[in-house]
Amino acid sequence: MHIGFIGLGNMGAPMARNLLKAGHRLSVFDLSEAAVGSLVEAGAAALPPAGIAASDAELIITMLPAAPHVKAVYLGDEGLIARARPGVPLIDCSTIDPHSAREVAEAARRHGNPMLDAPVSGGTGGAAAGTLTFMVGGSTEDFERARPILEAMGKNIIHCGAAGNGQVAKVANNMLLGISMIGVSEAMALGVALGMDAKVLAGVINTSSGRCWSSDTYNPFPGVLENAPASRGYSGGFGTDLMLKDLGLATEAARQVRQPVILGAVAQQLYQAFSAGGHGGLDFSAIINQYRKGDDA
Ligand code: NAD
Repeated sequence: MHIGFIGLGNMGAPMARNLLKAGHRLSVFDLSEAAVGSLVEAGAAALPPAGIAASDAELIITMLPAAPHVKAVYLGDEGLIARARPGVPLIDCSTIDPHSAREVAEAARRHGNPMLDAPVSGGTGGAAAGTLTFMVGGSTEDFERARPILEAMGKNIIHCGAAGNGQVAKVANNMLLGISMIGVSEAMALGVALGMDAKVLAGVINTSSGRCWSSDTYNPFPGVLENAPASRGYSGGFGTDLMLKDLGLATEAARQVRQPVILGAVAQQLYQAFSAGGHGGLDFSAIINQYRKGDDA
């Protein structure tokens, strides 16, 4: 299949590479010439967005930083929707707020283009390995048509309901992740401050009722899990600023429906303070450093 792919950053580039590996023909665009050049070397063709829209691409995928970028690419007289051939499906994999996703999907529907919001989890490692989870919003028919393409980039492809619901699932999950990481950080720091060995404490939690992904797979205490970012100075992994972005999406989406997200808001403020302290580039599990003191930290 000929696929247009716009947004070749940390996530988009490896996703596009997996589509090439699966045998698809790709036309790509990014504001960064270097990003485009690297995909062209791998076998893709370079085309501006208008060229992709006017081409015989049978599907267009975007992977952009945030809602303003998504709206800039899709909407307006020069946008993808205005220029796309009617009937060509559009899939936005960026993480944005559900309201903006629904606005763009509605504009696409009016123009005669099926649209899916399909944000991902699994990080850059999952993007490279082709093991991402896709949380997809849109009609069942459009979802089933897109599934084989998404399977070339991911392992779990989940239909979450109508347009925008992929983003709803993503913000709910990541809000819980932010909260659970803070909870595990608080508990681990307390146990160590009271004199317990971090590995022994993690062992107890991970066989008891406090167990969760943040404690057993991604423990924030250095040395507990050899392969976790905590054991390599909080490098790599999922950046604090990306978590802050997702918590901002969750609290803003909650505000729009007057739904209290009390712990989500506290988590957002904790990550904001941590980022303001100059730590936005560290993995989000470094939030434990807000709790550790003196020689212990
Ligand atoms: P990134 O900043 O590395 O890449 C974004 C790319 O979009 C850049 O190459 C940029 O040049 C390009 N871009 C921006 N505006 C553009 C435009 N108008 N036209 C064409 N290209 C444009 O970001 P990323 O890490 O790849 O993340 C992409 C999305 O995936 C974000 O919404 C992010 O929240 C989400 N996400 C990221 C991760 C992660 O671990 N990095 C995990 C899950 C979800």
